[in-house]
Amino acid sequence: MTDPTLPQLPATSREWHLVARPHGWPEAEDVALREVPVVAPGEGRILVRNLHFSVDPYMRGRMDETKSYIPAFALDRPMEGGAVGEVVASRADGFAVGDHVLHFSGWREYADVDAAQAVKVDADLAPLSAYLGVLGMTGLTAYAGLFEVASFKEGDAVFVSGAAGAVGNQVGQMARIKGASRVIGSAGSDEKVKYLVDELGFDAAFNYKNGPVHEQLAAAAPDGIDVYFDNVGGDHLEAAIGALKVHGRVTVCGMISGYNDTEPHPGPRNMPMIIGKRLRLQGILVGDHYDLQGRFVQEVGSWLASGELKYRETVVEGIENGYDAFLGMLRGENTGKMVVSTIR
Ligand code: NAP
Repeated sequence: MTDPTLPQLPATSREWHLVARPHGWPEAEDVALREVPVVAPGEGRILVRNLHFSVDPYMRGRMDETKSYIPAFALDRPMEGGAVGEVVASRADGFAVGDHVLHFSGWREYADVDAAQAVKVDADLAPLSAYLGVLGMTGLTAYAGLFEVASFKEGDAVFVSGAAGAVGNQVGQMARIKGASRVIGSAGSDEKVKYLVDELGFDAAFNYKNGPVHEQLAAAAPDGIDVYFDNVGGDHLEAAIGALKVHGRVTVCGMISGYNDTEPHPGPRNMPMIIGKRLRLQGILVGDHYDLQGRFVQEVGSWLASGELKYRETVVEGIENGYDAFLGMLRGENTGKMVVSTIR
């Protein structure tokens, strides 16, 4: 067992606390960046200096008190989420000072982590931030959502919304690599649309802010689609139901267009088409698919090595900018995975 290297530890760490539950869009007053003492880890625990942490859409749901598949963030406690960092003190077998780990105590500079909840990651294999995105939770969501939930097969025409985001850009590229007949993406700026087509090899893409989604989708997929990977909900889901062919499949991954709504969202008006076309709409929770982790890392790792699959990150520097990074992600300021770097 490694002795804790306590003398080298700083006295305090900064962390983001939720202090009020937002109504609609989160405000600056809903959170506080607080300074807390750094404590030595107890038996079976490690102290981690976070290097990068993740800001994700699902965190908006955790700010609310509503019953969900994951508990709400507690008030006056640090918010949680994926993070990678370096072990600086260990009282756990198998973890030594200097190891890099992935864990779930993000939104803070130093994290006191139950070693059983931490996974060692290899900084030589990939940049550490990649374990939060392309090789991490969002990458696995894309992989499981496309291949397991949507039962993707070669020759399918695939439409993905939120296509320039962390999950979406991986979905489109994975479909292309595995022989999709056509890959179509939607995103919120002309620059993102250009990125999808010119750099990631999408066959077509459109800016959903430039006109009705159903019209733009019909133009981009004149022969219809077999699979819709939904990250957005709302008018995107309605347009996709209209464009899906008989026996089409939908992976319902996220509905970010409604995450800050204060009233329930009306559903798609064309739901009866689900019957006539015998569509299958199925939700995904990435947590159900960790059995695919080994195959996912191996396959995605080989696509990354060969250059077939690309990824981008939008990195915001400094823990003090972490909350702005989160809000920026909700507004669409990211291309690829939004990551906060806490290295100083
Ligand atoms: P992301 O796509 O990297 O970032 C969120 C993006 O959503 C923004 O960049 C923005 O891009 C887009 N957006 C925001 N408001 C929108 C609106 N009103 N209409 C259309 N697009 C909007 O985030 P991510 O981590 O990859 O997550 C994508 C989706 O997957 C989210 O819905 C998330 O909740 C879901 N998710 C689900 C699971 C699961 O297990 N079910 C796991 C991970 C993620 P634009 O510039 O294009 O608007």
